[in-house]
Formats: sequence, structure tokens, C-alpha cells
Amino acid sequence: MSSPVTHDELSVRTRSILDRLGVSVDLDVSQSQLPIVARSPITGGNLGSLAAATVADVDAVIADAKSVFAGWSTVPAPVRGGLIRELGELLREYKDDLGALVSIEAGKIVSEGLGEVQEMIDICDFGVGLSRQLYGNTIATERPGHRMMEQWHPLGVVGVITAFNFPVAVWSWNAVLALVAGDTVIWKPSEKTPLTALGVQALFERAAAKAGVDPKVAQLVIGDRVAGEALVDDSRVALLSATGSTRMGRAVAPRVAERFGRVLLELGGNNAAIVTPSADLDLTTRGIVFSAAGTAGQRCTSLRRVIAHSSIAEELVERITRAYESLSIGSPLDSDTLVGPLIDAPAFAGYAKAVDAAVGAGGTVRAGGQRVDIFGEYAYYVQPTVITMPAQTDIVRHETFAPILYVLTYDTLEEAIALHNDVPQGLSSSIFTTDLREAEQFLSAAGSDCGIANVNIGPSGAEIGGAFGGEKETGGGRESGSDAWKAYMRRATNTVNYSNELPLAQGVEFG
Ligand code: NAD
Repeated sequence: MSSPVTHDELSVRTRSILDRLGVSVDLDVSQSQLPIVARSPITGGNLGSLAAATVADVDAVIADAKSVFAGWSTVPAPVRGGLIRELGELLREYKDDLGALVSIEAGKIVSEGLGEVQEMIDICDFGVGLSRQLYGNTIATERPGHRMMEQWHPLGVVGVITAFNFPVAVWSWNAVLALVAGDTVIWKPSEKTPLTALGVQALFERAAAKAGVDPKVAQLVIGDRVAGEALVDDSRVALLSATGSTRMGRAVAPRVAERFGRVLLELGGNNAAIVTPSADLDLTTRGIVFSAAGTAGQRCTSLRRVIAHSSIAEELVERITRAYESLSIGSPLDSDTLVGPLIDAPAFAGYAKAVDAAVGAGGTVRAGGQRVDIFGEYAYYVQPTVITMPAQTDIVRHETFAPILYVLTYDTLEEAIALHNDVPQGLSSSIFTTDLREAEQFLSAAGSDCGIANVNIGPSGAEIGGAFGGEKETGGGRESGSDAWKAYMRRATNTVNYSNELPLAQGVEFG
């Protein structure tokens, strides 16, 4: 099918995708009094509007999740994995539709929309295997005739709050692990991407029907901050996993702590790449351009700072700016587009303000810096922008969710690492070098302070096999692969006495 070029064509395509996914919601644009407005950043036009869940709605959903938990948590984990297998199969079948919906609602280019669904499929595969590998340790005990071990038990209801920029994958990172762990899930997606959430939920409910599982093991509430806060404050929600801005995390974390709930925070990043004199500049330039301009700079792991050795900085900037000139900006549904739109007007305002602030602080715009008119007034396309900076000023230390790349220079690796770490965020990082000692120093305890540190690839584009997340204001949470599943379970340490004696630990005598 050729790419829709008018908003009406986009609306028609959206409706037909939703029908195929099994979403029956009425998207009558005339009902624009409803508070959740689905729109496409491609044209800036509305696709329809939806009601927002109230506190009472969320309360009822939590009650259901709590009651279904009792049965689900005792289903053997490998059987729970069967639900995830069905989900993975449906995601394979509907990958093109769901990927296109991500492009329409979040503005990602076709291959990234599809990539996001592929990430869901990958975590489903991971989850099916994990369902037979929820291992606990057996631990040597000091008491004769005793055995000590740990078991991992389901935790309870898991609330999942997600951001607009990964409107489907982040749900799957959380929901797949939580469901395999025996938890029940309530998802509050971004109010900017309700349709992709409805599409995922419809596929999930079909998977549940195929697996013979109560669909209420994973529920959806479409709503804004009010619905999010209702999950945050409810003590029946055992784990609140929240992905979004540091501002949101700062509001959410103390409220969950107040009720002694658990949080898993995946917040903002300010990701950098150090480029050393030995770097392969061809490979480095390609890595930088994908990480900084891809997804129009709207990944939490987008590259925002390059820290280049002064001997190669100018050549690197020239290479990057040349590459930027050839990036096609336009509708993300066109096959040759590499840079789609910003999500909305506030995102554009943030971009424009940051460019002004950087120039005001002595920066020089070397590429981009302007808005591009593709679909008129309400669609916000910008040129990916490179700004050389005299120092790491306030605006450089701040996450602006747009394609702005600041370039700083350094003379010693120690200076580069100090600059690298001197930001409040700690998500992802990279070094481009062919010097083994530099690479290892960057990866060592004295190097990058981020949750993700890479060599000769940019900071973005993580795979699901590794644990994903970051330090400092990024929130400290880990999702996805490795042993991230442990966050969704509670650990019980068990000691079994199979002797006829009652020896006490630490040699204590009693009576
Ligand atoms: P946002 O913080 O505006 O919204 C995220 C979600 O939080 C939405 O669902 C929103 O409704 C909800 N929310 C906002 N305030 C809330 C509150 N007080 N209580 C409860 N819920 C609340 O973020 P956004 O603009 O959608 O996404 C962009 C941000 O997300 C960037 O900072 C980006 O770095 C970050 N992000 C981080 C990761 C990660 O894994 N670290 C992944 C994706 C996005």
C-alpha cells in the first residue's frame, strides 16, 4: 500500500488497522469533548478521542487484578509461559499492523515501528524460556541436618506506567516478565499513545483466550496523570514500574515509598559518546548519526553529547554535518524517510528553547537548527541539529527530548570521563576507540557511571537479552533481560531441619 499523504487517509488506515487487531472502540472525531485525544504527529491531526479512566475506574481494575492474582500466582510458571507463547505468535502475525500503528501514533519510521514490535516478540521468546528458569539458590548452612534455600514467589499486582516514545515495547518488557513471574498487570500507557495500547491489549486478550487464561491477568486503563496517580497511591499495587521523565519519577517515587511499595523507575537519559584519537571515524560517524538523529532524538538512549578529542573534533563534526545534510526528513511512513516528526507542540517548544539556550551560552549551530514544514502548522518536524559548545553548560546537562547533539572537546581521557559523568542522568554511554586500554578504562568502575556502557556502538538500540536501565536521575531500575525478572518477584529464604536436633545458628545455646 502506498503511504497515506493526507490526514483523512491516515484516519482510514488507522481504523482498518484497529479493526484487524480487534479494537472495537468508537473513534468518532466529533466526540472531541472526550479528554484523551488520539492524534498522529505525522500530520498533527486528531484520530479520535477517548474517555479517561477515573479514580473509581482504576480502583475497580485494581480489585479485579488483586482477585485474579490469587489463582494466577499458583499456576505453574511453565504453564504461565504458554500464555506468553500465544502472545508472541499473535505479535508475529500482526507485526506489520502494530508496527504501522506505532508509526502513525508515535511518528517512528517504518523500520523502527516494526523494530519495536520485534522487540516485543523477542521478549516473549525470552519470557517463554524464563518460565522454566526462575531459579533460586541452595545455600550451605552452618547447622548439621539442615538445608537452606531461596524460592522466588509471585509479588502481586504490578502497575506499569509508560511513556509515549516506546508505546508498545516497554509494556511488553514489564508485562511479559510480570506474567511469567505470576503477577497480574495493570497498564497505564501515555495519554499521547492510547491507540497502540488498545491494539496491544486486543492482541493480549486474544492470546489469553487461546491459552484459556482469564484476560484480567493483564488489564489496560486509558487515562492521564490522574489514573497514573491512582496506581501510584494504592497499596494493593505491589510494584509500580514507571517509565517517563525524571520529573514524573520525582513525583512518583516518594509516594510509593510512603506506602512501602516497590518502584522500578526508567527515567530520562543524557547519553554521551567519547570519541578518542584512535577511533575509526567512518564507523563512529555512522554510529553517532543513528543514535543522535534516529527516532528524531526521542529515545531515552538517544545520543545527546559527543565528547571528542581535540585532535579529531573538527574532522568529526564535519563528517557528522555532511551526514546530516543527507538525512531525509518527512512522513515516517515513506520508505526513504529517516527522520520523522517530534511528538507535539511542547516537544517543539523544548527543542527551540534548547537551541536558543545553547547559542546564548556560546554554542555554534553547525547543522540544522530549524523547523521544517512538511504537513503544516500542527506537525512538528525539525532538522537534526549539531551544536559545538565551549563547555558543558546547564542546557547540555539537561535532557531535551529532540534531535540536538552537543559537541564538547577534551585533551585527556580522565577529563573526558569526568565530563561524561558530570550530568544528573546515568542511562547509556559509549566510547569509540580502537585502543584496548581506553575501552577497558571506560567500562571499568573508574569509567562510565551509566547502566549501559558500549564500545564502538552508540548508546541507543539495546537488545532485550541484557538488563536495561540506568543510575542517578535515570532511577536505578532494570527491565528486560538478564535477571531483571527478580524485581517482579519476592524472595523467600527457607531453612529446613531434617534432623532430630535443634542446633541454633551462631552457636547460641538456649536452655
Ligand atoms: P512523561 O513523564 O511526560 O509521561 C510518562 C508517563 O507518566 C505517562 O503515562 C504519564 O501519564 C505518566 N505520568 C506523568 N506524571 C505522572 C504522575 N505524577 N503520576 C503518575 N503518572 C504520571 O514522559 P514522556 O514525555 O511520555 O516520555 C519521555 C520521557 O521518558 C523522557 O524523559 C525519556 O527519557 C523517558 N523514557 C525513559 C525510558 C527508560 O527506559 N529509561 C524509556 C522511554 C522513555
